[in-house]
Amino acid sequence: SSSSSSSVDAPGKGVENVVIIGSGPAGYTAAIYAARANLKPVVFEGYQVGGVPGGQLMTTTEVENFPGFPDGISGPDLMDRMRRQAERWGAELYQEDVEAIDVKSSPFTVRSSERKVKSQTVIFATGATAKRLRLPREEEFWSRGISACAICDGASPLFKGQVLAVIGGGDTATEEALYLTKYARHVHLLVRRDQLRASKAMQDRVYDNPNVTVHFNTEAVDLVSNTKGQMSGILIRKVDTGEESVLEAKGLFYGIGHSPNTQLLKGQVELDRSGYVQVEEGTAKTSVEGVFAAGDVQDHEWRQAITAAGSGCIAALSVERYLVSKD
Ligand code: FAD
Repeated sequence: SSSSSSSVDAPGKGVENVVIIGSGPAGYTAAIYAARANLKPVVFEGYQVGGVPGGQLMTTTEVENFPGFPDGISGPDLMDRMRRQAERWGAELYQEDVEAIDVKSSPFTVRSSERKVKSQTVIFATGATAKRLRLPREEEFWSRGISACAICDGASPLFKGQVLAVIGGGDTATEEALYLTKYARHVHLLVRRDQLRASKAMQDRVYDNPNVTVHFNTEAVDLVSNTKGQMSGILIRKVDTGEESVLEAKGLFYGIGHSPNTQLLKGQVELDRSGYVQVEEGTAKTSVEGVFAAGDVQDHEWRQAITAAGSGCIAALSVERYLVSKD
């Protein structure tokens, strides 16, 4: 094609090599690799999760399965280390949410409320967010009885020694239920289907625990309060018979999965049916050349810190290779 093509600006002044969006394990790992490759990455860290950079692990206590930390490490501590490692090699970090991107013409444009950056490549690492049920009174009791993170909130005085409920039948829900038995008087697990989807090992642990009662074919309909206006129970319905009743519980935890943070990408790159970024299998390549995705935003299966970090590495190395091939 002709070098005077109007949609392709020559890389150079004012055009970055790579913009990385997100500050979880995927984003920071990509930043470390890109910075070490001398690409001077620009990172939009975002502040959506808890108002701080660092992503989902900022909401957890101990991480016991990240290699290199035989005694475990706190989530925030691990993320702080990744951040400092990216910074040490010269990544440019901005604590800003990206509000819009345009990857329809090259160079791509990424915009936050503070700045607009043009870049030859983009790595999308915006992670995922826990899903909510949107029960009628959910807003009223959000963080006053309802939580999406047992590990963050289970030990709170609001829930300690109380009867609690968890919704969901997969690994997240069963893990939350078991975790909550450390603090709660009893835990009810509300499962919409007639079986658990969790791994066999998790199922066995749930069935073996006398402090967990599993309710199959059961869905939550709404929340119930006492005369003081505190959450006191859950209106539940048997999906097979339609029978409704109130289950006494002071707290409700959601373990119903995650939504990928891909709103920015709608109409820009191909997403799969669940809204995750579609990448070419075994790579970080999206449907648009020069746009890569890493971490939970493109992974509905493994969703681990180490897999997110691994895919962040692949994305950064792919950027490096892509830029060389374009030269
Ligand atoms: P995330 O960590 O989700 O980070 C995404 C980042 O993108 C965030 O910083 C967010 O602010 C940013 N972002 C989103 N939108 C924008 C935007 N528009 N502009 C700029 N930035 C944006 N995994 C383990 O391996 N071990 C564990 O022990 C473990 N414990 C967990 C405990 C809890 C409570 C949770 C919720 C998860 C846990 N996980 C654990 C899973 C692990 O946290 C995730 O797999 C991992 O964080 C995914 O990394 P990521 O980089 O893809 O995305």
